Amino acid sequence: MLDTRPLLEATDFPAIYRDKLQILQINLGYLCNLSCVHCHVNAGPKRTELMSRETIDDVLRFIDQHDIKLLDLTGGAPEMNPEFRYLVTEARQRGVDVIDRCNLTILVEPGYEDLADFLAEQQVIITASLPCYSEQNVENQRGKGVFNNSIEALKKLNSLGYGKEGSGLQLNLVYNPGGPFLPPSQIGLQEAYKKELGDNFGIEFNELLTITNMPISRFGSMLLSKGQFEDYMQLLKDSYSDANLNNVMCRTLISVDWQGQVYDCDFNQMLKMPLIASDSADIYLKDLLDQDLIGNEICIGDHCYGCTAGQGSSCGGALDG
Ligand code: SF4
Ligand code: SF4
Repeated sequence: MLDTRPLLEATDFPAIYRDKLQILQINLGYLCNLSCVHCHVNAGPKRTELMSRETIDDVLRFIDQHDIKLLDLTGGAPEMNPEFRYLVTEARQRGVDVIDRCNLTILVEPGYEDLADFLAEQQVIITASLPCYSEQNVENQRGKGVFNNSIEALKKLNSLGYGKEGSGLQLNLVYNPGGPFLPPSQIGLQEAYKKELGDNFGIEFNELLTITNMPISRFGSMLLSKGQFEDYMQLLKDSYSDANLNNVMCRTLISVDWQGQVYDCDFNQMLKMPLIASDSADIYLKDLLDQDLIGNEICIGDHCYGCTAGQGSSCGGALDG
């Protein structure tokens, strides 16, 4: 895979600094039931990297120490980590909201039949990637059979109350563009998703989150190999909006990898760009238990223009929505 990091390091992106930490984003490991061609972390059924119970206990200690209100779980398929239910239950007991970044198909895999019930009982927020409402587009990105399994999983979630008005069970879908262009208006696309999924399958959900593709990992490598990297970077820079700078997610979030190492955001984790907070390149969550990160400078690169372009982008969707 071609590496875009050397092209991103020298940047004119404005300096940004941390506010109060509110969100802990945890990557529970690279094990996944799918092997999507666009996967940022090369996840798949043969990967063995999984966050250990010891590191999960560090996460819980950090939550207690820093009064974290939102835990955002990613992978791989985070639910495949054997400690997933322990972490979710402990976090919910502490009153922390939990987001499960779910690929949907795991909910209909053999051995995971009771997963949806568990998520509903714990009132976990489900944020699920569904790159399109058409079968063809989803299967091109994610593999054969994925669309039908995703629809089956969405119906199962709806039957438990997920996505239904007044149930308190939140189901959000995520869209990212299929090429080197910015996402369309989040509100407009949400309407189209609601209509298509409602009319064709009777499916309901709460919000659609649109996310801009970052010029890193597999997508960055694809841009380089097709000679589109510079044009895409220029598009991101030309679409810069100052209003989004105050809301970039790294101001209030840290991202933790399966070994407990800490980064300013998920993208910096993929680029192995460490926190500026310490002289050491490897900073672990357990080393930050007593540290207050407010005011710390954030490690930036040209990829940061992906967060401020157009309507802005974060793990929670558009910034101006
Ligand atoms: S479902 Fe997500 S984590 Fe799994 S292979 Fe696909 S993109 Fe990667
Ligand atoms: S890429 Fe990461 S560090 Fe850069 S602005 Fe976006 S969230 Fe912040």
